[in-house]
Amino acid sequence: MSGKLRVGTGYDVHPLTAGRSLVLGGIKIPFEKGLAGWSDADALTHAIIDALLGAAAMGDIGSHFPPGDPRYKDISSLLLLEKIRDELTKNGWQVNNIDATIVAEKPRLRDFIEQMREQLGRTLGINVSQVSVKASTSNQLGFIGRGEGIAAYAVATLEEK
Ligand SMILES: [Zn+2]
Repeated sequence: MSGKLRVGTGYDVHPLTAGRSLVLGGIKIPFEKGLAGWSDADALTHAIIDALLGAAAMGDIGSHFPPGDPRYKDISSLLLLEKIRDELTKNGWQVNNIDATIVAEKPRLRDFIEQMREQLGRTLGINVSQVSVKASTSNQLGFIGRGEGIAAYAVATLEEK
């Protein structure tokens, strides 16, 4: 390892609502509800984007992709992640690893974790072994426990190229 190592954190939450697709880590998950938001509302990918931007001290997702901008209406958040990856590369950063946790009471996400890791790794141009995704619940407490929303936390480290 040669260059500087930097760490960043990200957090995101979106409300669950009927009539939307549930997309987490770029993977469509069969469920009766989906996350509401301006883009596809992929809370996991958004938390990862914020962690990457935080590590590079390059602002946050809202400053790069303002909600209300028609270019980003219902856009796949993987495309946003790709743009951030390119900006990081331009600034001399390389993604070292990602560790993320989704907090959702329902649905059960375990069967989709591997697909999410592979998809996120592919999008970031890193190996699946550098991407960790975990799923947790809030033990029926609070808005997540009542099934009103899904949250995601992420940590990312970047290495200077
Ligand atoms: Zn979001």
